[in-house]
Amino acid sequence: MIEDKNQQRTQLSDLGEFGLIDHLTKNFKIKQSSTVKGIGDDAAVLDFKKNKIVVSTDLLVEGVHFDLSYMPLKHLGYKSVIVNLSDVYAMNATATQVTVSIAVSNRFPLEALEELYAGIETAAKIYNVDVVGGDTTSSTSGLLISVTAIGEVNNDTEVYRNGAKPNDLLVVTGDLGGAYMGLQVLEREKEVFKVNPNNQPDLEPYTYIVERQLKPEARQDIIKLLKDLDVKPTSMIDVSDGLSSEILHLCTQSGTGCDLYENKIPLDPQVISTCEEFNIDSTTIALNGGEDYELLFTISQKDFPKIKANPNFSVIGYMREESAGIHLVTRAETKIPLKAQGWKNFS
Ligand code: ADP
Ligand code: MG
Repeated sequence: MIEDKNQQRTQLSDLGEFGLIDHLTKNFKIKQSSTVKGIGDDAAVLDFKKNKIVVSTDLLVEGVHFDLSYMPLKHLGYKSVIVNLSDVYAMNATATQVTVSIAVSNRFPLEALEELYAGIETAAKIYNVDVVGGDTTSSTSGLLISVTAIGEVNNDTEVYRNGAKPNDLLVVTGDLGGAYMGLQVLEREKEVFKVNPNNQPDLEPYTYIVERQLKPEARQDIIKLLKDLDVKPTSMIDVSDGLSSEILHLCTQSGTGCDLYENKIPLDPQVISTCEEFNIDSTTIALNGGEDYELLFTISQKDFPKIKANPNFSVIGYMREESAGIHLVTRAETKIPLKAQGWKNFS
Protein backbone atom coordinates (compact mmCIF):
# COMPACT_ATOMS: atom_id res chain seq x y z
CA MET A 1 0.00 0.00 0.00
CA ILE A 2 2.84 2.35 0.55
CA GLU A 3 4.21 2.84 -2.90
CA ASP A 4 7.90 2.56 -3.56
CA LYS A 5 8.65 6.13 -4.45
CA ASN A 6 12.28 5.33 -5.15
CA GLN A 7 12.38 4.92 -8.90
CA GLN A 8 16.15 5.04 -8.82
CA ARG A 9 17.93 1.99 -7.47
CA THR A 10 21.61 2.39 -6.77
CA GLN A 11 23.27 -0.87 -5.77
CA LEU A 12 24.99 -0.68 -2.38
CA SER A 13 28.02 -2.40 -3.91
CA ASP A 14 28.52 0.65 -6.16
CA LEU A 15 29.60 2.68 -3.11
CA GLY A 16 31.50 0.19 -0.99
CA GLU A 17 31.24 0.17 2.80
CA PHE A 18 33.14 3.38 3.49
CA GLY A 19 31.45 5.25 0.69
CA LEU A 20 28.10 4.13 2.05
CA ILE A 21 28.79 5.19 5.64
CA ASP A 22 30.10 8.51 4.44
CA HIS A 23 27.11 9.06 2.18
CA LEU A 24 24.57 8.22 4.89
CA THR A 25 26.15 10.20 7.69
CA LYS A 26 27.52 13.27 5.92
CA ASN A 27 24.62 15.49 7.03
CA PHE A 28 24.89 14.76 10.74
CA LYS A 29 25.93 17.77 12.76
CA ILE A 30 27.27 17.84 16.31
CA LYS A 31 25.03 19.80 18.68
CA GLN A 32 25.87 18.55 22.16
CA SER A 33 28.79 20.03 24.06
CA SER A 34 29.41 16.56 25.54
CA THR A 35 30.31 15.21 22.08
CA VAL A 36 34.08 15.62 21.72
CA LYS A 37 34.47 13.31 18.71
CA GLY A 38 31.62 11.99 16.58
CA ILE A 39 31.60 9.80 13.48
CA GLY A 40 34.88 9.21 11.66
CA ASP A 41 37.39 7.81 14.10
CA ASP A 42 37.70 4.35 15.63
CA ALA A 43 35.45 5.40 18.49
CA ALA A 44 33.43 8.40 19.57
CA VAL A 45 34.69 10.46 22.51
CA LEU A 46 32.23 11.96 24.98
CA ASP A 47 32.82 14.20 27.99
CA PHE A 48 30.08 14.39 30.62
CA LYS A 49 32.07 16.27 33.24
CA LYS A 50 30.52 15.37 36.61
CA ASN A 51 27.28 13.97 35.28
CA LYS A 52 26.25 10.35 35.36
CA ILE A 53 25.91 8.53 32.05
CA VAL A 54 22.87 6.52 31.01
CA VAL A 55 23.12 3.93 28.21
CA SER A 56 20.38 1.90 26.56
CA THR A 57 20.28 -0.34 23.46
CA ASP A 58 17.52 -1.85 21.36
CA LEU A 59 17.68 -4.22 18.45
CA LEU A 60 14.95 -4.15 15.80
CA VAL A 61 14.59 -7.06 13.42
CA GLU A 62 12.59 -7.08 10.19
CA GLY A 63 9.63 -9.45 10.40
CA VAL A 64 9.77 -9.44 14.21
CA HIS A 65 9.60 -5.77 15.19
CA PHE A 66 8.59 -4.16 11.93
CA ASP A 67 6.97 -5.01 8.61
CA LEU A 68 8.21 -2.98 5.67
CA SER A 69 4.99 -3.56 3.72
CA TYR A 70 3.34 -0.80 5.75
CA MET A 71 6.23 0.77 7.64
CA PRO A 72 7.90 3.40 5.44
CA LEU A 73 11.67 3.32 5.93
CA LYS A 74 11.76 6.95 6.97
CA HIS A 75 9.33 6.20 9.79
CA LEU A 76 11.33 3.12 10.73
CA GLY A 77 14.48 5.20 11.08
CA TYR A 78 12.62 7.72 13.20
CA LYS A 79 11.00 5.08 15.38
CA SER A 80 14.22 3.14 15.95
CA VAL A 81 15.74 6.27 17.50
CA ILE A 82 12.59 7.16 19.46
CA VAL A 83 12.25 3.79 21.20
CA ASN A 84 15.76 4.19 22.58
CA LEU A 85 15.37 7.80 23.64
CA SER A 86 12.25 6.73 25.51
CA ASP A 87 14.36 4.39 27.66
CA VAL A 88 16.75 7.22 28.48
CA TYR A 89 13.88 9.55 29.47
CA ALA A 90 12.46 6.75 31.65
CA MET A 91 15.60 7.17 33.78
CA ASN A 92 14.68 10.88 34.18
CA ALA A 93 17.77 11.62 32.08
CA THR A 94 18.51 13.87 29.11
CA ALA A 95 19.34 12.00 25.89
CA THR A 96 22.49 13.33 24.23
CA GLN A 97 23.89 10.87 21.68
CA VAL A 98 22.93 7.77 19.69
CA THR A 99 24.85 5.20 17.70
CA VAL A 100 23.10 3.41 14.84
CA SER A 101 24.13 0.00 13.55
CA ILE A 102 22.56 -1.66 10.56
CA ALA A 103 22.77 -5.03 8.86
CA VAL A 104 21.29 -4.84 5.40
CA SER A 105 20.80 -7.28 2.52
CA ASN A 106 21.53 -6.31 -1.05
CA ARG A 107 17.81 -6.28 -1.84
CA PHE A 108 17.90 -2.74 -0.41
CA PRO A 109 19.12 -0.06 -2.80
CA LEU A 110 20.98 3.00 -1.58
CA GLU A 111 17.79 5.05 -1.93
CA ALA A 112 16.09 2.87 0.70
CA LEU A 113 18.90 3.50 3.19
CA GLU A 114 18.73 7.20 2.42
CA GLU A 115 15.09 7.11 3.51
CA LEU A 116 16.00 5.23 6.69
CA TYR A 117 18.70 7.77 7.50
CA ALA A 118 16.41 10.70 6.72
CA GLY A 119 14.16 9.42 9.52
CA ILE A 120 17.12 8.96 11.85
CA GLU A 121 18.32 12.47 11.05
CA THR A 122 14.89 13.97 11.71
CA ALA A 123 14.61 12.26 15.09
CA ALA A 124 18.14 13.31 16.05
CA LYS A 125 17.32 16.89 15.10
CA ILE A 126 13.97 17.10 16.90
CA TYR A 127 15.27 15.43 20.07
CA ASN A 128 18.58 17.25 19.96
CA VAL A 129 20.87 14.23 20.03
CA ASP A 130 24.08 13.64 18.08
CA VAL A 131 24.59 10.54 15.95
CA VAL A 132 28.15 9.71 16.96
CA GLY A 133 28.80 6.32 15.39
CA GLY A 134 27.56 2.90 14.48
CA ASP A 135 28.42 -0.07 12.38
CA THR A 136 27.41 -1.20 8.92
CA THR A 137 27.39 -4.77 7.74
CA SER A 138 25.58 -7.02 5.29
CA SER A 139 22.79 -9.41 6.11
CA THR A 140 21.71 -12.48 4.16
CA SER A 141 18.02 -11.89 4.73
CA GLY A 142 16.28 -8.90 6.24
CA LEU A 143 17.14 -5.58 7.76
CA LEU A 144 18.40 -5.24 11.33
CA ILE A 145 18.79 -1.95 13.15
CA SER A 146 20.40 -1.52 16.52
CA VAL A 147 20.39 1.86 18.19
CA THR A 148 22.25 2.72 21.37
CA ALA A 149 21.16 5.86 23.16
CA ILE A 150 23.36 7.73 25.61
CA GLY A 151 22.16 10.30 28.08
CA GLU A 152 23.16 12.21 31.18
CA VAL A 153 21.73 12.99 34.59
CA ASN A 154 23.18 15.42 37.05
CA ASN A 155 23.53 14.88 40.78
CA ASP A 156 21.10 12.29 41.98
CA THR A 157 18.18 12.95 39.71
CA GLU A 158 18.08 9.52 38.03
CA VAL A 159 14.96 7.48 38.68
CA TYR A 160 14.92 3.69 38.80
CA ARG A 161 12.15 1.14 38.62
CA ASN A 162 12.66 0.12 42.22
CA GLY A 163 11.84 3.22 44.28
CA ALA A 164 8.03 3.02 44.62
CA LYS A 165 6.57 2.99 48.15
CA PRO A 166 3.13 1.94 49.41
CA ASN A 167 0.64 4.84 49.09
CA ASP A 168 2.57 6.46 46.23
CA LEU A 169 0.34 7.52 43.35
CA LEU A 170 0.67 5.71 40.02
CA VAL A 171 0.70 8.19 37.12
CA VAL A 172 0.80 7.73 33.36
CA THR A 173 1.33 10.34 30.63
CA GLY A 174 -0.75 10.73 27.46
CA ASP A 175 -3.11 7.94 26.48
CA LEU A 176 -2.72 4.21 25.94
CA GLY A 177 -3.54 1.54 23.38
CA GLY A 178 -3.28 3.77 20.30
CA ALA A 179 -0.14 2.21 18.82
CA TYR A 180 -1.57 -1.29 19.10
CA MET A 181 -4.90 -0.35 17.51
CA GLY A 182 -3.02 1.49 14.76
CA LEU A 183 -1.19 -1.75 14.06
CA GLN A 184 -4.49 -3.66 13.90
CA VAL A 185 -5.78 -1.20 11.29
CA LEU A 186 -2.57 -1.45 9.24
CA GLU A 187 -2.61 -5.28 9.40
CA ARG A 188 -6.22 -5.31 8.24
CA GLU A 189 -5.50 -2.96 5.33
CA LYS A 190 -2.53 -5.12 4.36
CA GLU A 191 -4.82 -8.17 4.05
CA VAL A 192 -7.34 -6.18 1.99
CA PHE A 193 -4.52 -4.97 -0.25
CA LYS A 194 -3.30 -8.55 -0.81
CA VAL A 195 -6.74 -9.52 -2.12
CA ASN A 196 -7.23 -6.38 -4.19
CA PRO A 197 -4.13 -4.25 -4.86
CA ASN A 198 -6.27 -1.54 -6.48
CA ASN A 199 -8.15 -0.97 -3.25
CA GLN A 200 -6.56 2.12 -1.72
CA PRO A 201 -7.14 2.10 2.03
CA ASP A 202 -9.02 4.94 3.69
CA LEU A 203 -7.00 5.57 6.83
CA GLU A 204 -8.59 8.95 7.49
CA PRO A 205 -10.71 7.80 10.48
CA TYR A 206 -7.61 6.27 12.05
CA THR A 207 -5.08 9.08 11.62
CA TYR A 208 -4.18 9.38 15.29
CA ILE A 209 -3.72 5.69 16.05
CA VAL A 210 -1.87 4.94 12.80
CA GLU A 211 0.50 7.79 13.63
CA ARG A 212 0.95 6.39 17.14
CA GLN A 213 2.14 3.16 15.49
CA LEU A 214 4.20 4.55 12.62
CA LYS A 215 5.55 7.74 14.15
CA PRO A 216 5.67 7.45 17.93
CA GLU A 217 7.20 10.21 20.03
CA ALA A 218 9.30 9.86 23.18
CA ARG A 219 8.27 11.98 26.17
CA GLN A 220 11.26 14.29 26.38
CA ASP A 221 8.80 17.06 27.25
CA ILE A 222 7.73 15.22 30.41
CA ILE A 223 11.26 15.08 31.79
CA LYS A 224 11.48 18.84 31.44
CA LEU A 225 7.98 19.31 32.85
CA LEU A 226 8.71 17.17 35.93
CA LYS A 227 11.81 19.24 36.53
CA ASP A 228 9.88 22.50 36.17
CA LEU A 229 7.18 21.22 38.54
CA ASP A 230 9.88 20.12 40.96
CA VAL A 231 8.62 16.54 41.01
CA LYS A 232 11.04 13.65 41.23
CA PRO A 233 9.19 10.37 40.64
CA THR A 234 9.94 7.61 43.13
CA SER A 235 10.04 5.08 40.28
CA MET A 236 9.62 5.26 36.51
CA ILE A 237 9.45 3.09 33.36
CA ASP A 238 8.40 3.69 29.78
CA VAL A 239 5.36 1.93 28.37
CA SER A 240 6.81 -0.24 25.62
CA ASP A 241 5.26 -3.65 26.36
CA GLY A 242 1.89 -2.57 27.75
CA LEU A 243 0.65 -1.05 31.00
CA SER A 244 0.25 -4.41 32.77
CA SER A 245 3.76 -5.60 32.34
CA GLU A 246 5.21 -2.17 33.18
CA ILE A 247 3.21 -2.00 36.42
CA LEU A 248 4.42 -5.49 37.30
CA HIS A 249 8.02 -4.37 36.71
CA LEU A 250 7.62 -1.37 39.03
CA CYS A 251 5.93 -3.48 41.71
CA THR A 252 8.33 -6.43 41.54
CA GLN A 253 11.40 -4.24 41.63
CA SER A 254 10.03 -1.93 44.32
CA GLY A 255 8.55 -4.71 46.47
CA THR A 256 5.06 -3.20 46.46
CA GLY A 257 1.53 -4.09 45.46
CA CYS A 258 -0.74 -1.86 43.40
CA ASP A 259 -4.39 -1.02 42.76
CA LEU A 260 -4.95 0.12 39.18
CA TYR A 261 -8.35 1.69 38.48
CA GLU A 262 -9.88 0.70 35.16
CA ASN A 263 -12.00 3.85 34.92
CA LYS A 264 -8.89 6.05 35.23
CA ILE A 265 -6.94 4.54 32.29
CA PRO A 266 -6.61 7.32 29.66
CA LEU A 267 -7.94 6.35 26.23
CA ASP A 268 -8.23 8.46 23.11
CA PRO A 269 -11.75 8.49 21.57
CA GLN A 270 -10.26 6.98 18.39
CA VAL A 271 -8.93 4.03 20.42
CA ILE A 272 -12.36 3.51 21.96
CA SER A 273 -14.19 3.66 18.61
CA THR A 274 -11.67 1.41 16.86
CA CYS A 275 -11.86 -1.12 19.70
CA GLU A 276 -15.64 -1.14 19.26
CA GLU A 277 -15.23 -1.65 15.53
CA PHE A 278 -12.82 -4.57 16.08
CA ASN A 279 -14.94 -5.86 18.92
CA ILE A 280 -12.09 -5.84 21.42
CA ASP A 281 -12.14 -4.58 24.98
CA SER A 282 -10.30 -1.26 25.22
CA THR A 283 -8.99 -1.97 28.72
CA THR A 284 -7.37 -5.19 27.46
CA ILE A 285 -5.70 -3.16 24.73
CA ALA A 286 -4.43 -0.49 27.11
CA LEU A 287 -3.11 -3.17 29.45
CA ASN A 288 -1.42 -5.36 26.87
CA GLY A 289 -1.01 -3.34 23.67
CA GLY A 290 2.42 -1.80 24.05
CA GLU A 291 4.51 0.57 21.94
CA ASP A 292 2.84 3.70 23.30
CA TYR A 293 6.16 5.07 24.66
CA GLU A 294 4.40 7.00 27.38
CA LEU A 295 5.98 7.29 30.81
CA LEU A 296 4.60 5.44 33.82
CA PHE A 297 5.79 6.62 37.20
CA THR A 298 5.00 6.82 40.88
CA ILE A 299 5.07 9.94 43.03
CA SER A 300 4.77 10.60 46.71
CA GLN A 301 1.27 11.84 47.67
CA LYS A 302 2.73 15.14 48.82
CA ASP A 303 3.58 15.91 45.17
CA PHE A 304 0.01 15.40 43.97
CA PRO A 305 -0.92 19.12 44.03
CA LYS A 306 1.99 19.84 41.66
CA ILE A 307 0.72 17.53 38.91
CA LYS A 308 -3.02 17.66 39.60
CA ALA A 309 -4.03 20.32 37.09
CA ASN A 310 -1.79 19.13 34.26
CA PRO A 311 -3.56 17.44 31.32
CA ASN A 312 -0.41 15.43 30.47
CA PHE A 313 -0.88 13.31 33.57
CA SER A 314 -3.48 10.76 34.65
CA VAL A 315 -3.42 9.31 38.14
CA ILE A 316 -4.48 5.72 37.51
CA GLY A 317 -3.95 4.03 40.85
CA TYR A 318 -1.80 3.77 43.90
CA MET A 319 0.87 1.51 45.25
CA ARG A 320 0.13 -0.80 48.16
CA GLU A 321 1.98 -3.14 50.48
CA GLU A 322 3.46 -6.10 48.64
CA SER A 323 1.17 -8.49 50.54
CA ALA A 324 -1.91 -6.71 49.14
CA GLY A 325 -1.04 -7.92 45.63
CA ILE A 326 -1.30 -6.26 42.24
CA HIS A 327 -4.86 -5.71 41.03
CA LEU A 328 -7.05 -4.09 38.46
CA VAL A 329 -10.09 -2.52 40.11
CA THR A 330 -12.76 -2.81 37.40
CA ARG A 331 -15.59 -0.40 36.63
CA ALA A 332 -17.86 -2.86 38.44
CA GLU A 333 -15.50 -2.50 41.43
CA THR A 334 -14.32 -6.06 41.38
CA LYS A 335 -10.63 -6.80 41.82
CA ILE A 336 -8.78 -8.87 39.25
CA PRO A 337 -5.10 -9.85 39.64
CA LEU A 338 -3.02 -8.08 37.01
CA LYS A 339 -1.15 -10.35 34.60
CA ALA A 340 1.51 -9.53 32.06
CA GLN A 341 1.04 -10.56 28.49
CA GLY A 342 4.26 -8.96 27.29
CA TRP A 343 6.88 -10.83 25.32
CA LYS A 344 4.49 -10.98 22.41
CA ASN A 345 7.47 -11.35 20.08
CA PHE A 346 8.10 -14.84 21.42
CA SER A 347 4.54 -16.08 21.21
P1 ADP B 1 35.56 0.18 12.13
O1 ADP B 1 36.15 -0.57 10.98
O2 ADP B 1 36.54 0.68 13.13
O3 ADP B 1 34.37 -0.53 12.73
P2 ADP B 1 33.84 1.69 10.47
O4 ADP B 1 34.41 1.85 9.13
O5 ADP B 1 32.80 0.64 10.70
O6 ADP B 1 35.01 1.53 11.48
O7 ADP B 1 33.22 3.07 10.94
C1 ADP B 1 33.82 4.30 10.63
C2 ADP B 1 33.07 5.39 11.33
O8 ADP B 1 31.72 5.45 10.88
C3 ADP B 1 32.98 5.19 12.83
O9 ADP B 1 32.97 6.45 13.45
C4 ADP B 1 31.64 4.52 13.00
O10 ADP B 1 31.12 4.72 14.30
C5 ADP B 1 30.82 5.21 11.93
N1 ADP B 1 29.73 4.38 11.40
C6 ADP B 1 29.84 3.16 10.81
N2 ADP B 1 28.63 2.70 10.41
C7 ADP B 1 27.72 3.66 10.77
C8 ADP B 1 26.31 3.79 10.64
N3 ADP B 1 25.56 2.83 10.09
N4 ADP B 1 25.72 4.91 11.12
C9 ADP B 1 26.46 5.86 11.70
N5 ADP B 1 27.78 5.82 11.86
C10 ADP B 1 28.43 4.73 11.38
MG1 MG C 1 32.66 -0.96 11.83
